[in-house]
Amino acid sequence: MRLGFVGLGIMGAPMALNLLKGGHQVTVWNRTAAACDPLRAAGADVASSPAAVAAASEITFAMLSDPEAARAVALGPDGICDGVGKGAGYVDMSTVDATTSQRVAVAVEACSARFLEAPVSGTRGPAQEGTLIILAAGDKSLYDEAAIAFDLMGKKRTFAGEVGQGARLKLVVNLIMGGMMSAFCEGLTLARHSRLDTIELLDILDAGALSNPMFRGKGPQMLADNYAVAFPLKHMQKDLRLALELGHDLQIKLPTSGTANDAFVKALDAGDGDLDFSALLRTLNN
Ligand code: NAP
Repeated sequence: MRLGFVGLGIMGAPMALNLLKGGHQVTVWNRTAAACDPLRAAGADVASSPAAVAAASEITFAMLSDPEAARAVALGPDGICDGVGKGAGYVDMSTVDATTSQRVAVAVEACSARFLEAPVSGTRGPAQEGTLIILAAGDKSLYDEAAIAFDLMGKKRTFAGEVGQGARLKLVVNLIMGGMMSAFCEGLTLARHSRLDTIELLDILDAGALSNPMFRGKGPQMLADNYAVAFPLKHMQKDLRLALELGHDLQIKLPTSGTANDAFVKALDAGDGDLDFSALLRTLNN
């Protein structure tokens, strides 16, 4: 298939590479052009704008930082809507709010093209390994056609219904993850101040009902003050903000998540936004 990919950051670059490895013809674009170089070296075509990617592709995928970026790339000058062909597909895999997704869907459909939102669960490693979990919603025919590409990028996928439901599902998942990380950091801090053996604490957590890949993978790195980025802290805070806004719209109280968000905002203000979100541990008790 002729596929396009815009947004070659931590997640987008390995996802696009997996489409290439799957034997597809892939055209890419990234705002900062240098990020295209490794993809070009692997055989991708590099286009001069999102519009040019969409014009060259049967299905274009996007993996962008936040709602502002998603709107700029889809709706802005030389954006997707300036190039997408009749019947072609646009799949935005960024984590955004439902309203942003719906706005983009309306604009894409006004071009007689099809839209799907497909945010993902999983971080840098799963993006490289092609084992992401894909939470799609929108045009079902596009979901079915994009399945061949999704299965190169992910190990599991679901179709959640109308546009907005994929975005909401992703925000619920990350609301839980943000709260878990916040509680994990508090537990590690309390254990340290209680002069407990924190490595033993990780072993105990892993042996019981609280065992999970996030604690298992990040725990030892956090104890070693290693916050090499897989999921940027600034994106975790963005997701908590969007989840809290969703709760506000639905008049649902989310007090624990509000407190977790405050902690992430504090870490962001301390300049840790580009570190991994586990860097919350650094600022939690300051
Ligand atoms: P990232 O490394 O920060 O990459 C963000 C991408 O968005 C870059 O390609 C960046 O271009 C582009 N971008 C930002 N603002 C833009 C604008 N105004 N116009 C055009 N392009 C713009 O982020 P990431 O970690 O790959 O995450 C991408 C999305 O996936 C986010 O929504 C994030 O929440 C979500 N996500 C991330 C993870 C993870 O573990 N990292 C996991 C699941 C979901 P430049 O290179 O020019 O800056």
